[in-house]
Amino acid sequence: MSETTREGGCTCGHVRYRLAGGPIMVHNCHCRLCQQQTGSTSVLNAFIETDRIELLAGDLADNVVVGGSGNAHTIRRCARCGTAIWSHYARLGTLGAGVRVGTLDDPASVTPDVVIFIESKLPWVPLPEGIPAFQQYYDFAEVLSEASNARLSALVKRRKAGEG
Ligand SMILES: [Zn+2]
Ligand SMILES: [Zn+2]
Repeated sequence: MSETTREGGCTCGHVRYRLAGGPIMVHNCHCRLCQQQTGSTSVLNAFIETDRIELLAGDLADNVVVGGSGNAHTIRRCARCGTAIWSHYARLGTLGAGVRVGTLDDPASVTPDVVIFIESKLPWVPLPEGIPAFQQYYDFAEVLSEASNARLSALVKRRKAGEG
């Protein structure tokens, strides 16, 4: 497993965080909810075990919204400036987090594994070359590495056991 650590933070400097190790997977999502919630063309989330996120400084405030599955999606934001830092989605609950790649100090240090929900992609946004793209969602087992699937399965197992 990678020993890489990455740091990031919000726009006002109140919140700082560190990620231990690389992400399980990185999603570039063009669904309508992500477009509305970001005001942009898509969102870029690096998914990681929440216990690999260390909050170095600042306070977070939560917004609970409806996710694509119809279940709750919790957006954790800087309590001062409102920058969205990461989200907890229904599948992994609070055990897994989708960290907004744009908040990393070096957002170019990760690349998407998949581009999803291209059915609602704005027509002028080109698809990146060499990255699998899907009309909606995708099958983790088919696309992600064995190591990533193992990390994901471990989280799903913990979630089913009643954690998070
Ligand atoms: Zn802030
Ligand atoms: Zn989305």
